[in-house]
Amino acid sequence: MPPQSGSTSELVPCGGTVHIVGAGPVGLMLTALLQSMEGFSVRLYEKRHEYTRTRMVQLAPYLVADSVESYRADRIDGDNVEAVFDPRELEDGLAFRQSIPADLMDLLREWAQGFCPLNAIERSVSDLIDDRDTSSVERRTAVVTTEEAIGLLEPEDILIDCTGCKSLLRDHLVPGGGDVVPGPNTFEIRLEYALVITFLYGQTYECNEYCKYYKNVGNVNYKFIPAVHRTYYDGAVSHVTGIVNITPEDYAAVPPRCDGEWLRGNFPGVARSMDRFIDKVKQETNGEIVGDLEVVRIPLSLYRARNATSRRWREGGPADHPFATSPVFLAGDSAIGSPYFQSISLGFECAMFLAGLLAQRDLPIRDLLDRYEMFMYKQWLRVYMRSKMIKHNKDVFECVDDRFAVLDKLHIY
Ligand SMILES: Cc1cc2nc3c(=O)[nH]c(=O)nc-3n(C[C@H](O)[C@H](O)[C@H](O)COP(=O)(O)OP(=O)(O)OC[C@H]3O[C@@H](n4cnc5c(N)ncnc54)[C@H](O)[C@@H]3O)c2cc1C
Repeated sequence: MPPQSGSTSELVPCGGTVHIVGAGPVGLMLTALLQSMEGFSVRLYEKRHEYTRTRMVQLAPYLVADSVESYRADRIDGDNVEAVFDPRELEDGLAFRQSIPADLMDLLREWAQGFCPLNAIERSVSDLIDDRDTSSVERRTAVVTTEEAIGLLEPEDILIDCTGCKSLLRDHLVPGGGDVVPGPNTFEIRLEYALVITFLYGQTYECNEYCKYYKNVGNVNYKFIPAVHRTYYDGAVSHVTGIVNITPEDYAAVPPRCDGEWLRGNFPGVARSMDRFIDKVKQETNGEIVGDLEVVRIPLSLYRARNATSRRWREGGPADHPFATSPVFLAGDSAIGSPYFQSISLGFECAMFLAGLLAQRDLPIRDLLDRYEMFMYKQWLRVYMRSKMIKHNKDVFECVDDRFAVLDKLHIY
């Protein structure tokens, strides 16, 4: 007799297809991991024809850690990790890393050295998948709709949504959830509205907390704050990315993307703060800006999927719905996102953990879903603690010239 949906003894499906929707960094990483494991047939769907995102991103060194100590090397994240994860869980994660094929591990090591364009990461993994001597990955270029994604599932198949922060399936993972806006499966905290401003500078420029303060002296309303580890000298120019906090009204008045000239004409207050900051950098290091400012308007939110798997469908949905029988997962930005954290690294960790679970063919599906949910919840705690701390420190920094405003923000007990 075939196992009933939700049966505790049903094992991880094998023999079916793993459908991965979204070939951004996380979908590609998951594909490359499953491709190198015995018995997986992967179909990877992506709507873009080319990888064009050139923004410089940094991966966290913990991705290539080879010991629990080096995994926890970051002072703040390290404490959170120690509080949230059992030592055994960390050791299991490191053991999985040791099993990652050398071609993929070499890429991870290279990226963890410094900054790298996002599309270089995407292209390298994409090429690695195509160049490997196996035909177990089929690629399809298509915009997949929710209905199509649900319709893909045959018995024994697995579906993984890697479609990023505007996830295709997140709010469909609870029965009846897809029609409700905002989705009942998304927990979101709006941290702030911001302009993310990037510029290139023709000299070496490194920023620290003192620099953030002294270069903003005089910027009372708008402070340009280089983001955590967001200045990088590539041997020719320094890449500088930072955030200016703006009001919701400002946000509504700015186009999604603009340049320095637009800013000077329309938001002179923000432009003056930027120019003051940059002038001080120039005085110190005798360099010049290369090109113009690149300005992107972003609502900065911290969010997570309350359910990162289809387990609610298995527990209480109509038994004839494909999500009640076939496991569905969210990975990467479709599951968790924070504006201040290294989200690609978190997404890669999800991919590694999920690949490690799927490889355990004797694992009941119920355990598979529960273990992934627990892992994602712990990752969420880690991201939440760090993001809230960064936001709090930013709030204090932004009113550092006003003693009473600072005191207002301090809740000591
Ligand atoms: C300005 C900026 C700077 C950043 N800097 C860093 C950094 O330094 N370090 C870091 O770790 N992270 C950084 N991030 C975040 C990082 O870019 C994301 O976390 C990462 O791209 C998420 O990867 P993902 O694969 O989960 O999703 P995405 O990169 O969003 O990929 C999703 C993929 O799914 C495809 N897709 C979506 N919908 C469909 C559909 N319906 N059908 C088919 N395909 C679909 C998309 O085309 C895309 O290729 C930054 C983000 C921004 C905006």
